[in-house]
Amino acid sequence: MPYPFNSAFTYEAESPLAPGTLVRVPLGPRVVAGVVWDTPADMEIRARPVAAVLDFPPMPAVLMAFIDWVAAYTLSHKGDVLALALKENLLKAPPKHGKVYEFGGADPELAGPELSPAQATAAHALREAVQGQVFGVTLLDGVTGSGKAEVYLEAVAEALRAGKQALVLLPEIALSVQVLQRFEKRFGAAPAVWHSELTPAVRRETFRAVAEGRANVVVGARSALFLPFPALGLIVVDEEHESAFKQEDGVMYHARDMAVVRARLSGAPCVLVSATPSLESVENAASGRYKRLDLPARHGGAVLPEVRALDMRAHPPERGRFLSPVLVEAVHETLARGEQAMLFLNRRGYAPLTLCRHCGHRMACPNCTAWLVEHKSHSRLICHHCAYSAPMPMFCPACEAEGSFVPIGPGVERIAEEVRFEFGGARVLVMASDVIAGPKQAAEAAARIAGREVEIIIGTQMVAKGWHFPHLTLVGVVDADLGLAGGDLRAGERTVQMLHQVAGRAGRGQAPGLVLLQSFAPEHPVIGALLSGDLAAFLAQEAAQRRPGHWPPYGRLVALIVSAAEERVADQAARELSKTAPAGPGIEVLGPAPAPFALLRGRFRRRLLLKAARGVAVQGIVKDWLARTGLPKQARVEVDVDPVSFL
Ligand SMILES: [Zn+2]
Ligand SMILES: [Zn+2]
Repeated sequence: MPYPFNSAFTYEAESPLAPGTLVRVPLGPRVVAGVVWDTPADMEIRARPVAAVLDFPPMPAVLMAFIDWVAAYTLSHKGDVLALALKENLLKAPPKHGKVYEFGGADPELAGPELSPAQATAAHALREAVQGQVFGVTLLDGVTGSGKAEVYLEAVAEALRAGKQALVLLPEIALSVQVLQRFEKRFGAAPAVWHSELTPAVRRETFRAVAEGRANVVVGARSALFLPFPALGLIVVDEEHESAFKQEDGVMYHARDMAVVRARLSGAPCVLVSATPSLESVENAASGRYKRLDLPARHGGAVLPEVRALDMRAHPPERGRFLSPVLVEAVHETLARGEQAMLFLNRRGYAPLTLCRHCGHRMACPNCTAWLVEHKSHSRLICHHCAYSAPMPMFCPACEAEGSFVPIGPGVERIAEEVRFEFGGARVLVMASDVIAGPKQAAEAAARIAGREVEIIIGTQMVAKGWHFPHLTLVGVVDADLGLAGGDLRAGERTVQMLHQVAGRAGRGQAPGLVLLQSFAPEHPVIGALLSGDLAAFLAQEAAQRRPGHWPPYGRLVALIVSAAEERVADQAARELSKTAPAGPGIEVLGPAPAPFALLRGRFRRRLLLKAARGVAVQGIVKDWLARTGLPKQARVEVDVDPVSFL
């Protein structure tokens, strides 16, 4: 049952039920949906009878094996993983007179676009992999604008020809807009989509269509991995380096890594796609575990943009401003040529910090170790980590001075204000997740940009990936140093990936692109990598730093996050875990230490980190560790295998 149990329950049926059969069964006072699992029944138990056998295709054996695998790997309850694949409301019968959704019209025999020789070679290799129908992973590494989607769509076409289903995973649903357009162009029909913004009716019908094999292609967010495909013949993970593929709460799984597992269990090929592949995937390709295909040039003769660092010490902005005069001039020139400019700052809202100029008091969230972010559009101070928000106070809560608050630093709203001041008549569009709420709004925004209704785009990471805007020739990165603080293991790698993706938005059409990186530390290796464009050399440096200390991907990490409503309890639990920490060759436990978010959503948090050599089976070690630790009842321990975030 899709609830926090780790094993199946025994029920009685009138006739034998095959594994995978969907049923309703009594659970306490309720009747709930469940799946007949292929574990031996416990005959000692006096079992209650099955309430109903559902008229629904059985859960495929591969999906059941996958659920078992993910539960064992992530140290989650099997029932919690099953809940990712099965929800009560998905099993309702479709309304008799409701709208009927059409799926599976994708036609692989339509003529595809003309491919460059490099694209054709890569597409050929992927088609062969699909024809073979054996498991294997291919890393498709192509520069931004090289037409990677056109290549992997040929692999999708091949899967369809073979009568199989294909799954394309995307890190963000906002991205799906342009992917869907490319898809329709290629196959003459839209694929099924799967993400959190679907209406219940569409979600239900999509689920059934996938289970019945009527939906032969699904484009979806990470949760699409748990759909009941009866004949999965290909998985594509687009933007494979994205940390958004990691689920950070509940069952903490990395959708890229689990996609590889699901492909292996299905005996199907898996394609990982990126212009800035992760060190993990590059290393797997180098060691021969993955195949590798490269697209080294942009499609259609477009050239990669020129990237320049803008030293903010030499060209500082005016007081109270954030754009260097050099960048402002470049925007003026771009607009004068009738082209578009984009300013990138990965920070929502108006200002990340609000400070009393009288006493220095900073406005912090009462529930989290975080500053409140001013959002002028809502006239409120908002915590980006919990739902807390409050109006800007008239008086300082510390010194009671009136109207003494000043905003410190910029968010995209503040950059938009500066742009409107500097470029009076220009048409400006802000793209951030609090302004553009779903795929529909993203599609509208994209259409306005493509239709040249907009001259200056100001955006957060939402604008970084995937988009193809042919008239956009200038990209200005407002704060290229932003991602480097914090000492995260992958801070450098992630900053290079994100800024390289942003830079890749420039000059994708006829006119060449220019990228200006505002930085106070232009000598930093990350800026160096962006200037040279030599990402392979940067990853080699990263590898050289991580290898000796056995940091991923040259070792394993498991994070234990201890939390409690009372600080004393969190500390006690962390101490107990520290006392019982495992020891042995190739194992090390770091911490406990207060988490960077020592208080989050009202809970006090402490972190421990198990570090192990690559070959060590960490799951068993952590299981034993937890089993022999006496934890206070009010404490919670979350286990994050292969953590991506260290907050
Ligand atoms: Zn004050
Ligand atoms: Zn908060």
